[in-house]
Amino acid sequence: MPTCRLCGKTFDTMSELYIHLRSECGKIPRTRKCPVCGGRYRSIRFMKLHLINEALVDGRHMSYLIST
Ligand SMILES: [Zn+2]
Ligand SMILES: [Zn+2]
Repeated sequence: MPTCRLCGKTFDTMSELYIHLRSECGKIPRTRKCPVCGGRYRSIRFMKLHLINEALVDGRHMSYLIST
């Protein structure tokens, strides 16, 4: 079952989990620096987008956000 690693919520599908991460998960770090790869971004919003988009293609970012 797809689970948000940050807040522990579980979802029926991966796409619901992604919607949760994008719009409502309050546990995503409020920092401009990615906690996974150390990349720096112009704003917290950009860092959050990076983290979520990268989770689709990179295993390290994925396992930071998601457990299945
Ligand atoms: Zn969450
Ligand atoms: Zn990163």
